[in-house]
Amino acid sequence: MESQRIVVVGGGLVGSLLATFLVRRGHQVEVYEQRPDRRALTIGAGRSINLIGTSRGLAALERVGLRDAVLAIGVPVQGRTMHALDGSLTYHPYGKDDSEVNHSLPRGELNALLMTSAERAGATFRFQHRLREADLAAGRLEFEREDTGETVRVEADRIVGADGAVSALRDAFEATPGFRTTYEDLGHGYKELVIPPRPDGSFAIEQTSLHIWPRGRLMLMALPNQDGSFTVTLYLPNEGASSFAEVDGPEAVTRLFETEFPDAVPLIPDLVTDFEANPTGRLGTRRCEPFCFEDRAILIGDSAHAIVPFFGQGMNCGFEDCSVLVDRLEDEDDWGRAFAAYSAERKPNADAIAAMSLENFVEMSERVGDADFLLRRHVEHRLENELDNYRTRYSMVTYSHIPYRLAYEAGKIQQRILEELCAGIERPEDVDLEAARSLIERELTPFLDRHAVSLSY
Ligand SMILES: Cc1cc2nc3c(=O)[nH]c(=O)nc-3n(C[C@H](O)[C@H](O)[C@H](O)COP(=O)(O)OP(=O)(O)OC[C@H]3O[C@@H](n4cnc5c(N)ncnc54)[C@H](O)[C@@H]3O)c2cc1C
Repeated sequence: MESQRIVVVGGGLVGSLLATFLVRRGHQVEVYEQRPDRRALTIGAGRSINLIGTSRGLAALERVGLRDAVLAIGVPVQGRTMHALDGSLTYHPYGKDDSEVNHSLPRGELNALLMTSAERAGATFRFQHRLREADLAAGRLEFEREDTGETVRVEADRIVGADGAVSALRDAFEATPGFRTTYEDLGHGYKELVIPPRPDGSFAIEQTSLHIWPRGRLMLMALPNQDGSFTVTLYLPNEGASSFAEVDGPEAVTRLFETEFPDAVPLIPDLVTDFEANPTGRLGTRRCEPFCFEDRAILIGDSAHAIVPFFGQGMNCGFEDCSVLVDRLEDEDDWGRAFAAYSAERKPNADAIAAMSLENFVEMSERVGDADFLLRRHVEHRLENELDNYRTRYSMVTYSHIPYRLAYEAGKIQQRILEELCAGIERPEDVDLEAARSLIERELTPFLDRHAVSLSY
């Protein structure tokens, strides 16, 4: 394909990674980002918001040679530790063995690394440029400079909307024929807090775990950072009992934590100050279709499919979008066909991970402490470890590249299998493995074979 002038709107995680891919394909890439360049401030800033990187994201990074550099700024996480109200802990490993781990990555540093990589490859970043209007058919964009208030008009051969969940470029898509979009609010928000390291610099709680305090409609989670701290995310309903609307003021915050998360209280010394200072984030699911407009523009990452964060896949899915887009650009010599193929492939997968992320919200907040649920999880762990024809849905999503939509469908079959295997047993050891093998062979394997899904990954 001939070199094109490509404008990427949004220099977040996905826009910055895609810029590297596109420059390497010989295009002239300009990234317009509304925020200032915070790279000098970000590196080594200590407190950090983090997120989980898994196989799909890492595979895309590998393609541009960034996997090792990204892993070097992260902390490996091997399983979940559940904190019960009485302070007792239950641990559940994520993968089949210690080779299957997740990586807790500092968002700011990761973004900085991706921007620098794109710049080194030859992309140009224009910071403090906020997209105000776009004429997709004409390839014209209008930005406002946040520092001077000046209007900047730009023309592009191709336009990429990587401007996140509240996407201004998606607004321009709304004026195009056949485009549909919906937003489903979760009714919960989140707030970030910090568990600092101990005075000697060590981690205050187990460092190789994602820590969860599941309390029905409320939930607390903590992920480790390299400096010995944990980024804590509190999820509360927006309205009603124990909600962000109700819990305001130092006393209410302290009361909530002392009642619901007593073992976390001594770990978070700046609880009240951080609660009051940090913004409350909104959570919801954005769906739209198609992810492209003719041969002119596409949406990628959260602008196309913002999902709730309970499977830890939003960024991973966005990075996989980049890989798929580049593959389709390699297959096709026509931009319109490549964009349409990208959209057709990603839309069902985005819908599937959106649905699984919503299911995981219920699972993590309500079911993770429930005895039947735990029995099924432990039975699954046995099946995964002792049989060669079973991998959990979690594993397919997190450690393989099996399309999300197939993992989702396979997961529905697995639910039925687990229901049958767990009926009438109380302990995971009671499951009859030979009966389980035949049931899986009969119910699940034909589906996997039909879709050429291999469980060896
Ligand atoms: C609490 C929480 C936890 C999460 N945890 C995980 C996790 O563990 N694993 C995971 O994979 N994902 C996780 N995610 C999801 C992940 O953060 C997103 O999927 C990811 O950031 C999407 O990247 P993006 O580049 O598409 O969007 P963003 O990261 O939102 O970047 C969009 C960029 O566009 C810029 N921008 C916006 N509007 C304009 C405009 N008008 N003009 C110019 N620039 C603009 C923004 O400033 C920003 O830099 C989590 C999300 C949340 C909220």
